[in-house]
Amino acid sequence: MRMTDLIAAKRDGKELSTEEIGFMIKGFTEGEIPDYQMSAMCMAILLRGMTSRETLDLTLAMESSGDILDLSGIPGVKADKHSTGGVGDKTSLVLCPMVASLGVKFAKMSGRGLGHTGGTIDKLESFPGFCTGISEETFRKNVTEIGIAIAGQTANLDPADKKLYALRDVTGTVPSIPLIVSSIMSKKLASGADVIVLDVKCGEGSFMKTQADAETLAKELVSIGRQAGRKVTAVITDMDEPLGYAVGNALEVKEAIAALHGEECGELLNLCLTLGSCILLDAGLAEDETTARTMLRHTVEDGTALEKLKELVAAQNGEPHAVEDVSLLPEAPVQLDVPSEEEGFVKHIAAEKVGLVSMGLGGGRVTKESVIDLSVGVVLKKKVGDRVEKGDSLAVIHAASEAAAEAAAAQLRACYTFTDKAFYKEPFVKKIIR
Ligand code: URA
Repeated sequence: MRMTDLIAAKRDGKELSTEEIGFMIKGFTEGEIPDYQMSAMCMAILLRGMTSRETLDLTLAMESSGDILDLSGIPGVKADKHSTGGVGDKTSLVLCPMVASLGVKFAKMSGRGLGHTGGTIDKLESFPGFCTGISEETFRKNVTEIGIAIAGQTANLDPADKKLYALRDVTGTVPSIPLIVSSIMSKKLASGADVIVLDVKCGEGSFMKTQADAETLAKELVSIGRQAGRKVTAVITDMDEPLGYAVGNALEVKEAIAALHGEECGELLNLCLTLGSCILLDAGLAEDETTARTMLRHTVEDGTALEKLKELVAAQNGEPHAVEDVSLLPEAPVQLDVPSEEEGFVKHIAAEKVGLVSMGLGGGRVTKESVIDLSVGVVLKKKVGDRVEKGDSLAVIHAASEAAAEAAAAQLRACYTFTDKAFYKEPFVKKIIR
């Protein structure tokens, strides 16, 4: 078999066989197929697409390119969650403890943030001492004993995706449905969960700018996951403004803790109830969505979800008291209020740009090697649909210096667009694909 022939076949719109896809992924992972040939293949896939069968084969070949976490020895249903990337997305910090406190085991391998998007692993490291690089043995032990573990991906999980994603990033081949689906689902399948819920973001701050594109992606993700024998649901949610109020690592942890204390009942809690109910239904723990949402709400009201977060933090060497006393979390030395220079109703808050403001303050990575400041970021005071008068606080900037805060304040103001008239705000959860 020759890679040149496979590239030519895909260029001409032909379907690749299971053997050909297996040959290509094995050869590329082992370094026998060079980057320039794989780049050409990625571009051919982007332009010509893949059938669902090809996408499934690509996903399975990538899944088995490295270690596969076998969680079958752990009793009970094991769940996982993935978000296609957003700004201010602290959902996992709220959702995982809620669901785990109801007896579904949460075994989550998570990523770090890059560019304008954040990562759960960075956020968790805001807890002093928290270790995200736990061994597979500790990961299993924690999932078994306390029902929850959140760790960084192990070095040899899906090596094909690590190489392929880096190549796609520099060859203009990220926005291809079969390549995105195989990238996401191969990692999720290799992580071993039985039940997977996917939060597919839609809007300016995400990959998928329109609902139609987000739906196409969500349907294919669900279809591939189900064909691979897992219970998968996708929820399409809005990313036309940041999720919730805080953007920045420790600031997002504080917002998540407030939600678990029952102090937040907006879109963050609504999203966690929606994603959580998908998991409970697939896990067979609830008969319908209303029951599932009630069960999840109770975990906040009776404090069991907050207790589960404490157990997670303690089990991974972090300071559990920070869950009760958030002053133990990193705090930036400068806090600057950003008064509005305009009046009206907030029409739009450019999510990606807010993410970049936080990154500029030092809260996000420019390259994978960047060292980040966990304390900095932005806390929004006004969201889309809110009425604003001149001088009202739009946001508070948390920065390492006055100069950084002043620069960020000007950039933050530019993220807001206003309109004179009140308007209907589109629902945050757009669709559930089962
Ligand atoms: N997230 C991934 O893990 N892979 C992609 O290709 C896109 C988003």
